[in-house]
Amino acid sequence: MDSFNKDLTEEQRLMKQSCRNFIDRVVAPFLREEWQREWNMDPAERLPDRILKAADDISIRTLGVPEKYGGVELNPETEIRSFAIIAEEIARGDSGLADKLVQNWKVAVLLRNLAAEHLQKKWFTRLVEEHGLLFAHCLTEPKGASDRWLPYNVPEAAMDTIAQKIDGGWKINGRKQFISNGFDAGLYVVYANTRPGSGMLEGTSSFLVPRETPGLEVVRCNETIGCRFMNNGEIYFSDCYVPYDHLLCEGEALSKAAVYFRPGKIIQAAKNLGVGVSAFEKTSLFVQTYERGGKMLIKHQAVASRLADMATRITAVRTLLNQAAYSVDTRSSDSDVLCNMAKVYASQEILKVCQNALELHGGMGAMLDVGIEKLYRDATIFLHMDATVDISHFKIVKAMFPETAGRYAGPEN
Ligand SMILES: Cc1cc2nc3c(=O)[nH]c(=O)nc-3n(C[C@H](O)[C@H](O)[C@H](O)COP(=O)(O)OP(=O)(O)OC[C@H]3O[C@@H](n4cnc5c(N)ncnc54)[C@H](O)[C@@H]3O)c2cc1C
Repeated sequence: MDSFNKDLTEEQRLMKQSCRNFIDRVVAPFLREEWQREWNMDPAERLPDRILKAADDISIRTLGVPEKYGGVELNPETEIRSFAIIAEEIARGDSGLADKLVQNWKVAVLLRNLAAEHLQKKWFTRLVEEHGLLFAHCLTEPKGASDRWLPYNVPEAAMDTIAQKIDGGWKINGRKQFISNGFDAGLYVVYANTRPGSGMLEGTSSFLVPRETPGLEVVRCNETIGCRFMNNGEIYFSDCYVPYDHLLCEGEALSKAAVYFRPGKIIQAAKNLGVGVSAFEKTSLFVQTYERGGKMLIKHQAVASRLADMATRITAVRTLLNQAAYSVDTRSSDSDVLCNMAKVYASQEILKVCQNALELHGGMGAMLDVGIEKLYRDATIFLHMDATVDISHFKIVKAMFPETAGRYAGPEN
């Protein structure tokens, strides 16, 4: 819709256009011709390297990296909105590819804020120079991820992954699961318990762990329902030693990671929106070219009504997302509430958009080579990423009513 493009800055307009060209000229033809690759059981064979090379040509693997290290620095005043615009465009082509790339942007923001200068130099330079290098952010453990979002300090909710201080560094033991880019990453940001007994909020520290570190083992690539071009993985740490300077944040790693979580939610909602836009574009084309009952599908009122419903949901998601991105860019006090609202609302509305697309395509919607069922599968993933629907609601309420909803009521007997 036109009014949404009117307030874009020149930088945002140019980035949006070059991403759109990349998707329409490189990614869409690939998916049309080689859709079976999504189901290749060898994760390395799914996304051909030429796609990441083409992404590198327009520098979208290294967004968020400071210019002094060779990155493309976006205007800091509108950086989060720009991330959203670019993430939406990439996910309009493929949300798994978008997942792969945006992890780098999010971790870049974290490193910019928390890593020592020499580590920023090392990893940002490598990220820019090493084609295909990916980053991963490891919070979730077999014990679960929802506990990570509890707003009060519960000893029982502490992480099982432990980091012990030893001579000159830290020894990490534990397991992380469901990690985006977990199977492929060259650098892992790892959260671990460093003060047993003090709970999540005060006892969690974060570390940089390069893939080649002895004691780090990538155990498996998870086979997921959607976003399959991003290789989600499980990582095991056994007496994994990192030097002292690889500590990002001691004790308060979860609250310090807000610089990652807020843009993360916006980017998540934006990718989700891109999936919805793709479903709408494909469906509107289909209903204007396919005939039933002697006329174009769109001329049947029930079909037209569903199309209006899809467009309305997409517009509502976009409006909330823009407001939330603005609140993060301007560091408004309501940014926590808004970015959680945008993430959770997008996950529910875009799933409905994709369900409409699936139904309006009739039997075609169920065919793997048509690609509509893929959008539906991809949309389901957003219910889980970066907190579930219920846990996101919990965070919204907590941010709005910190004195009541954010209080620990004591252990259950
Ligand atoms: C494709 C994909 C990519 C991911 N990428 C990453 C990543 O890069 N890094 C990372 O660290 N994690 C990642 N995750 C993990 C993701 O953040 C978690 O799956 C998600 O937060 C839910 O946590 P869980 O799976 O442990 O579910 P659980 O915490 O076990 O929750 C199970 C159910 O119980 C409900 N529940 C749990 N606790 C409560 C409570 N206190 N009150 C009410 N209801 C509750 C939840 O809402 C949910 O419905 C990814 C997951 C997926 C699917």
